[in-house]
Amino acid sequence: MKIIAHETGVPGLTYAHMHDDENTAVAATLGTLRRRGGRLVEVRHTGKRNLRFRLGTTEHVFDPNRAFTDAGAEATLRELGPYSKKAHAAVRAFAEAFLAAVGLEALREGPGLLVTVHNNKPGLYSARSYDHGGEHERDAERVRPKRETAPDDFFFVTEARHYDLLQGGPYHVVLQDNAAATDDGSLSVWAAREGLPYVNVEAQHGHLREQIDMLDYLNERLEAAGQRAGA
Ligand SMILES: [Zn+2]
Repeated sequence: MKIIAHETGVPGLTYAHMHDDENTAVAATLGTLRRRGGRLVEVRHTGKRNLRFRLGTTEHVFDPNRAFTDAGAEATLRELGPYSKKAHAAVRAFAEAFLAAVGLEALREGPGLLVTVHNNKPGLYSARSYDHGGEHERDAERVRPKRETAPDDFFFVTEARHYDLLQGGPYHVVLQDNAAATDDGSLSVWAAREGLPYVNVEAQHGHLREQIDMLDYLNERLEAAGQRAGA
């Protein structure tokens, strides 16, 4: 496992990518970096979503986007394989290393916003998951569904001001309910606890054009609101 930072040296947003099988998100973000500056921090592993490591002869598996809280790290290890305190410490160390590469102090002083990029498979996870009757309904405070775009392509945000900023466009927007959201160890839960504004740009696998357009839309809306402050 490697954590790689793509630095353009041009002021812009910081993007984070954790699931190594979500290649559309990386391609879309690298294209965005070339045009709009900023930086991308990504986890490179085996090309698979989950990370694997060995302690002695025991192999452990975890979802990197469940590593950011103690409860999440324990749950993902137990769900995907054997659990031990040492394995838990290793998962939490991964999370700390990832956050260090993202550079939280600079983020807080600069744009004050962490952008993550993900891809999903059709029908499994979408803005609809947060709407009435959806699997994650209780994790969302507000959902703005749209007719003109697929629900798989959506913004997931932790702050009402970003919900307001993005909801007028063509994309579905979900505002996390920061008080009620399940502590699953995901970066959005961690960011809400830390008070670090967070926007996930989530698109279906293969929706490269759509994800590029969403990243452009996010940058344009932030610029229009004078919130980009990339320096
Ligand atoms: Zn993902």
